Amino acid sequence: MTDAFLRHIRATLDEIEAAGLMKRERLLAGPQGGRIRVAAEAGEREMLNLCANNYLGLADDPQVIAAARDAMQAFGFGMASVRFICGAQTLHRDLERAIATHLGKDDAIVFAACFDANGGVFEPLLGEEDAIISDSLNHASIIDGVRLSKAKRYRYANSDMNGLEDCLKQAAADGARFKLIATDGVFSMDGYLAKLPDICALADRHGALVLVDDCHATGHLGEKGRGTPALTGAGDRVAIVTGTFGKTLGGGMGGFVAAPQPIVDLLRQRARPYLFSNSLAPPVAAGALKALEIAIAADDRRARLQDLTKRFRAGVEAAGFKTLPGVTPIIPVMLGDARLAQDLSRALDERGIYVAGFVFPVVPKGQARIRTQMSAALTEADVDFAVSAFADAGRRLGVTEGTAASAGRQA
Ligand SMILES: *Cc1c(COP(=O)(O)O)cnc(C)c1O
Repeated sequence: MTDAFLRHIRATLDEIEAAGLMKRERLLAGPQGGRIRVAAEAGEREMLNLCANNYLGLADDPQVIAAARDAMQAFGFGMASVRFICGAQTLHRDLERAIATHLGKDDAIVFAACFDANGGVFEPLLGEEDAIISDSLNHASIIDGVRLSKAKRYRYANSDMNGLEDCLKQAAADGARFKLIATDGVFSMDGYLAKLPDICALADRHGALVLVDDCHATGHLGEKGRGTPALTGAGDRVAIVTGTFGKTLGGGMGGFVAAPQPIVDLLRQRARPYLFSNSLAPPVAAGALKALEIAIAADDRRARLQDLTKRFRAGVEAAGFKTLPGVTPIIPVMLGDARLAQDLSRALDERGIYVAGFVFPVVPKGQARIRTQMSAALTEADVDFAVSAFADAGRRLGVTEGTAASAGRQA
C-alpha cells in the first residue's frame, strides 16, 4: 500500500520535472540584505540581491535584532498557547495597536502570517447570502480564503473596471445581501497598483465594501508607508486592510487584518487560523513592532528606494530590455520566452546577481520574465553594477541585439 502510494507521488514529481516546473531552492549562509552570502559547493559567494521583499532593508537592521533579543529576555522564546486559552503578551497587543494606528483603523488582529489572515478573514464575515468579488490576479491566500467562505464568488479580469461593475450588478441580481470587493494593493508579478480610487467609487455606487491585501506596500509605499490606499488617494474608503510583517516590516513573520472595531472583534471570536494556531513568538512580535516604528520614520529610506527604482529601471531600459511600466519597486524585465528567461537568470547568477526567473504557470505563457525588486539596502553603485551585468549578459545572449529596433517597437 505504502509502496504504491509513494510510486504515485514520485510519478507526480517526475511530471513536474518533465514539464520543467521543478522549483529548486538556493541557500543563504547569512542574513538577508542588499549583499548576501550564497551557499555553493565551492564555498560561499557574495551576491547582489535583487529578489527579496526587503524593500526598506530592515531584515538585518541592528535595532530590529536588538528589539527581538530584548523581547526574548523579557518574554521568553515562545508563547506555547493559542490566544483564547493563555491570552497574549502585552507585546502582541502593542503590535496590534501600532499597526492599526499606523493604518488609521480602529483595531487590528495579528495572525501567524498574512496567508493565515487572508485564509481567516472571509469566512466569519460573509455567509451564503453574501458576495465576494475578486480580482483574477489576487494572491493565492485570498483565493483560498474566499474558497473557505460560503459567500457567492465572482471574479473579474485583472483591474478590469467594466468587469468589476458587471460582477457587482450580477451579485445584486443574484440577491446578494452584502458585497465585498477583494484586491491586492500591488500585483506582485507585474508591480502594478490596483486602481483603488476607481474600485472604491464603484463600491460606493453599488453599496460594496473594499478589502485590500497590501503585503507589497505596507511600510514603503504611500505617505509614511501607509500603503496603496494612501498612495492612490483611496484612503479610508478601503474598509479592511490585510498585510504582512514578513516583507517590508522586518521580514520576520506575522500577518494582520486592520479594520473597524466590530470586524476585528468578530474575527477574534471566529477566525479559525487565529483561534487554533499559536501566537507569534515574542522576539518576532517585538522585531516587527520595532521595524514598524523605524519604517514610519523612514522617509529617507523610502526616498532612496524610489531613487534606486528609477535608476535601475532607466538603466535596464537604456540597455535595451523591455520592462513593464510602474511606480513600485517591483521591476519585471520581460523576456517572453521561458528558456531565455532561464538562460538570462543563469548568466546573471554567474555575474554575481541574485534574481529569479518567472515562467509559466506563475505568469502567463509567453510572458516569462525576471522580476527584480529594489531595496533601500542597495547603493547606487550596487544598482549600476546590476545594470551593467544585465547589459553584458543581455548582449552575450542576444536578448538586447537590435536595441534600436526593439526600442522603436515599444514606443
Ligand atoms: C506575501 C504575500 C502574502 C503572504 O504573506 P505571508 O505573511 O508571507 O504569509 C499574502 N498576500 C500577498 C499579496 C503577498 O504578497
